[in-house]
Formats: sequence, structure tokens, C-alpha cells
Amino acid sequence: MPNGQWAGSNRAKRLPPNWTSEMVPETFEVYGDICHVCGLPGANEVDHVNPGDDHSLANRRPIHGKGTPQNCHQIKSSSEGGRAAQAKRPKRARPPEPHPGLRR
Ligand SMILES: [Zn+2]
Repeated sequence: MPNGQWAGSNRAKRLPPNWTSEMVPETFEVYGDICHVCGLPGANEVDHVNPGDDHSLANRRPIHGKGTPQNCHQIKSSSEGGRAAQAKRPKRARPPEPHPGLRR
């Protein structure tokens, strides 16, 4: 398994202590290596279906991570971040002005 992938983030601290030793292997045992995002084999990381701190088996699925051509994990995680950022962004304050060259 790749290691140090959460370096620089506080994500690793929020994962249970048996995440790597038990929960990750158990996920691959139950679900195989089929990526739950694209449906192709070769998944090498475990993803939370619903992002957050629900680490139950039902919320864990294999996913293509670092080192795979698909890299579905990165794409999914960055779109989750993107949606959150977009929700915080204010809407346009001013309505669009009419073109100054328009005849009245
Ligand atoms: Zn995938």
C-alpha cells in the first residue's frame, strides 16, 4: 500500500488506529479491487462513500488512488472540495449592464 499519502493533512489523525492494519484489508476482502467510481478493477485505496467520519464497512469502497492511471480518488476528493467552495462563493452582486452601444 502507498504510504504517507495524507502527509500534510490532518486526515490521517481522524482515521481510526486500525484503519491501515484492519479496515483497508477488510474492504478489499469484501469488495475486491473494483473501483466504486469507475467500475474497473485495479483499485488500490479505500474511499469513504459519504465523506466524513463514518468508517463502517458499508461506507467504505475500493477506489483508484495514487499510482493508478484512473486516479479516481483524487478526482472525487477534489470535486467534493470544489462543491464546498462553490457553495460559499457569493453570487454576482450587480446585474449585467446593457451594452453602451445599444440604440435607445
Ligand atoms: Zn476508478
